[in-house]
Amino acid sequence: MVLGAILAGCTAPGGPARLEIDRSIQAVSQSSRVSFVVLHYTVADTPRSLEILSRQNVSSHYLITDETPPRVYQLVDESRRAWHAGQSEWYGRSDLNAASIGVEIVNPGPVEGGWAPYSDAQIETLILLLRDVISRHQIHARNVVAHSDIAPQRKQDPGPAFPWKRLAETGIGRWYDESKVAGLKADYQRKGLPPVAVIQEKLRRAGYATPQSGVLDEATRRVLRAFQMHYRPARHDGEPDAETLAILDALP
Ligand SMILES: [Zn+2]
Repeated sequence: MVLGAILAGCTAPGGPARLEIDRSIQAVSQSSRVSFVVLHYTVADTPRSLEILSRQNVSSHYLITDETPPRVYQLVDESRRAWHAGQSEWYGRSDLNAASIGVEIVNPGPVEGGWAPYSDAQIETLILLLRDVISRHQIHARNVVAHSDIAPQRKQDPGPAFPWKRLAETGIGRWYDESKVAGLKADYQRKGLPPVAVIQEKLRRAGYATPQSGVLDEATRRVLRAFQMHYRPARHDGEPDAETLAILDALP
C-alpha cells in the first residue's frame, strides 16, 4: 500500500518524469560563502599530518608540506566545511569553520630553545595559494587570521615564527601603519598606559574576543599574547606595553 502510494506519486499525471534544473541564468547578486582564511601549523611531520588531516576528526582545505619543493594538498573541497578552527570568534562572528578556508603548514611549532622557522619555499608557496584563495573569495585583509587570533585561549599556531610582516609586504593580510608607531609609542611612554578596560576595548575593536572585565586577568593576557605573536613577535609575553598599544592604535 505504502509502496503503491510512492509509485503513484512518481507517476502523477502531468508531473515530471525526473527533476530537471535549468542553470542557464545566473544571478548577478551573489558572493562567496567564504569570508576568512585561518592559518595553522601542524606540529606533526608530513606523513603524520596527512594521516591526521585526512583520516581523523580534524581536517583542513589545504596542507603545505615541508618537502623540497613544498607540495600543496587539497584535502577538502572549498565549497565544503573543513574541521580546523574549533570553537572560535573573530569580530563577534563565531564558528569560523562555517565560513573559512583552513590552511595547515607542516611545522613543528615550539621546539627546544624557541620556535621552528618556516622555510622560504613554504612561505612563497603559501603566498601563491593565498593570493588565489583571497581573490576568488574576495576576502578582507583583516580576515586572514592565525588560529591563535580566533581562539586565543586555546591555540598558539601558527606561532611567533610565522612571518606575517612578509605576507603583508606582498599585500596579504592586515598590517599596521609603521610610520605612526614611534610617535604613538613615545606618547604612551610619556603619559603611561591606559586603564585595562581601555586596552580590552581596543583588542575587541581589533577583532579579538576579549574579556571586558577591566582586570588584567589570564584570559586577557592570552589575547595580548595572540596579538603580539601576530604583530610584534619579538616579544609575546602577554604584558601590555607602550609598543603593543601603539601598534593597536596604528591598525587600519
Ligand atoms: Zn590550528
